[in-house]
Amino acid sequence: MLRRSSIWMPMLKEAPSQAKLRSHQLLVRGGYFSQMASGIFSILPLGNRVLEKLEKVVDSEMQVVLGAQKTRLPILLSADSWRKTGRWDQTGDELFRLKDRRDNDFCLGPTHEETVTDLVASFGHLSHKQLPIKLYQITQKYRDEIRPRFGLMRGREFTMKDMYSFHADEEDIMRFYDNVCTSYENILKKLGLDFVKVRADTGNIGGNFSHEYHILADTGEDDLVCCDSGDYAANVELFEPEAKTSTDVFNLDCNCTESTCSCMGKGKLRIKKGIEVGHCFILGTKYSDTLKAIGVNADQKRFPLIMGCYGLGLSRLIAASVESYRYHASTTKVTADDAIVWPRAIAPYEMIIMTAPGKESERQKRKDIVEKDIVPYLSETVDINEVVLDDRWKESLGVKMAEAKLIGYIWVVLVGKKGIEVHHLPSSNIFSVQHASEIPSIISQFDDRIQK
Ligand SMILES: [Zn+2]
Repeated sequence: MLRRSSIWMPMLKEAPSQAKLRSHQLLVRGGYFSQMASGIFSILPLGNRVLEKLEKVVDSEMQVVLGAQKTRLPILLSADSWRKTGRWDQTGDELFRLKDRRDNDFCLGPTHEETVTDLVASFGHLSHKQLPIKLYQITQKYRDEIRPRFGLMRGREFTMKDMYSFHADEEDIMRFYDNVCTSYENILKKLGLDFVKVRADTGNIGGNFSHEYHILADTGEDDLVCCDSGDYAANVELFEPEAKTSTDVFNLDCNCTESTCSCMGKGKLRIKKGIEVGHCFILGTKYSDTLKAIGVNADQKRFPLIMGCYGLGLSRLIAASVESYRYHASTTKVTADDAIVWPRAIAPYEMIIMTAPGKESERQKRKDIVEKDIVPYLSETVDINEVVLDDRWKESLGVKMAEAKLIGYIWVVLVGKKGIEVHHLPSSNIFSVQHASEIPSIISQFDDRIQK
């Protein structure tokens, strides 16, 4: 069990003045991330725990459910294959470009379609028996934003999961694409976030079929057109330019066919705000044609591999969780201004044990209850790596409690005037217990409820 006095948790009284978003303010104040330069953050130990937990959730879906293999492609990318696909010239100033000592062009990878296609092509023609190939990585990505803002929402360096798949035929890639979408939905449900899957523009990556995943949040930067009584949803980018500028247009009837929306034409289109966290594309053969990633079928016929790519922004997902996670689906206001409520799956620590100060004799008594009663008992019943012991026995309760709320522990076990209390911070419930042995049964009542 970690002792609070031994953990470095640098916290700030006030958020930096340029931090406009709640997630930016709280994550910097709570000592999760620290800005080093515009749009570039150090991930502090607390933030790294959140990120590693999120990676675990993602790894499990990618590897166990989808059967993808984890890999690590270079971050420093040669311009050669970017020139072949045309993206070296098509991509604007958002690409971080640099030169080596021999004057060769490189960029810092914002995305890896060229790299992974080069990699697969470098092993020669692939037998259809080796397909599909499904590779993913979780690494830093780079984009030179004009105005890096909103903290982790739009940084110039960010952590992203990107996956690339290579298939022999359309049927196989469509099946896999649907499975990836289901996995994304599993991940977002596990985090208890309100999300919507929308049809999207394929943009600079190209290809012929694409969906985005958005977390619904008033602070989102994207406008989404959603049917109010069905499941139709699309990024507003897909609409005509004149429609984009007029919000009136979106009081329209949902003129969808049965196959595009479940409302059967009865719904109305509304605008909602979203934070884009995931993007799936069917790329077809755009990259494999150009970079010669070739398969050979059973009749020894050659064909370009059919590709898909699937991104999930992890640093952005962390910010979006702080922005919009609600413990109860019915809660309208997120929470107090100085408290983070984490989805349980990614809370940095689940519990802190603390005492109220007081006279020397009281302090000693409370310390004894913690060390001789609570700690040994919890050591046998809960995951001790998730528990912090606040051993600052003389520190005021107000200071310790405010810190616990800002950090976003799920549970506070408090020994004070009223004996032992168990606080469930997301719901503000407080339970009095006679003995530490009652704590696990209280926790287990809540386990299932820490979801939408
Ligand atoms: Zn509809």
